[in-house]
Amino acid sequence: MPKAQETILEINLNALKHNFDYLKSKLNNNTKFLAVVKAFAYGSDAALIANYLQDLNIDYFAVAYTHEGVALRDAGITKPILVLHPQPINFKEIIDRCLEPNLYSLKVFKEFIEIAEKENQTNYPVHLKFNTGLNRLGFLKNDIDVIANILKKTKAVKVTSVFSHLAASEDSNEKQFTLSQIEKFETITALLNTKLEYKPIKHICNTSGILNYPEAHYDMVRSGIALYGFGNSKEENKHLKPIACLKSIISQIHLLEKNETVGYNRAFKSDGLQKSATIPIGHADGIGRQYGNGKGYVIINDCKAPIIGNVCMDMIMVDVTNIDCNEGDEVIIFDQKNSASNLANTVNTISYELITSVSQRVKRKIVK
Ligand SMILES: *Cc1c(COP(=O)(O)O)cnc(C)c1O
Repeated sequence: MPKAQETILEINLNALKHNFDYLKSKLNNNTKFLAVVKAFAYGSDAALIANYLQDLNIDYFAVAYTHEGVALRDAGITKPILVLHPQPINFKEIIDRCLEPNLYSLKVFKEFIEIAEKENQTNYPVHLKFNTGLNRLGFLKNDIDVIANILKKTKAVKVTSVFSHLAASEDSNEKQFTLSQIEKFETITALLNTKLEYKPIKHICNTSGILNYPEAHYDMVRSGIALYGFGNSKEENKHLKPIACLKSIISQIHLLEKNETVGYNRAFKSDGLQKSATIPIGHADGIGRQYGNGKGYVIINDCKAPIIGNVCMDMIMVDVTNIDCNEGDEVIIFDQKNSASNLANTVNTISYELITSVSQRVKRKIVK
């Protein structure tokens, strides 16, 4: 791999294939695979990732917002795309672009049907989400009668799937709660099936659900984070490969006399002869200010260099007093060896937040 000469996010498609194959190996042959590619495919590159997975014959994609689905259609994605969190203002565009809405409340359910009828649709694919305990989005079991009555009166939509979302599938201390969610989901889908003339597919598992609750894979699973290389546990992380490496370069090295300060608000003060390196990545690139002042670090020539002082918009300064390094040397923020998960943990957050924060300003580079 040539050394990074500017800030760059490398996206490794071999690693993606590896993660995909690992997840597939956990599924029955007839369980469908939905790839969650919201938020730029977790901060990587949604068009790239989705096209690659489409070529591997993935069954479904999901995004959070409508315009993310539109971008995928523009990028040549023809597989079904579930929009997890649409708003009524998006419904016309959803139909125009053959996207499939998650309908999660009676309000959006009725409004979508109204627009689908106005657009002369028949059997337009929609997905119903039920709340089984996350209390974020979803119908309740009590809504089923009303849903069924409305469905009886229209030909405009057809329920392709019924789904729910687990609140704590990665946490073995919450196993009882997760099992209760799965049980509620069973009850809901069974009841709904008695009211419909057809059987929508069922799905409830996200990544940790796939790994920890094989009995709940049903007809389809929805994986995001594991495709990108994180399994929410040390044990699972061993089987997965992070697909994204964030790299940069040392722009300049400064020698600091005792009591000299570094960066805005003079937040770092040298306590003797010290050496700092300036790196072209800042909070506008996804390294939040919380990583400053010794919390976060980067890797330079295999050594940890803590971030000193405040994170600037376009730069960080790191302590390289004890590191043999030169201007122009490569800097690793995270890669397969130095995981984004570990760096995220230094500021009490999770891999999801750090990897999805890498801003669009950072160049993406494909590695095969
Ligand atoms: C984001 C999301 C997922 C993916 O979760 P991972 O933990 O990344 O696998 C699945 N389902 C829903 C409803 C989501 O919002």
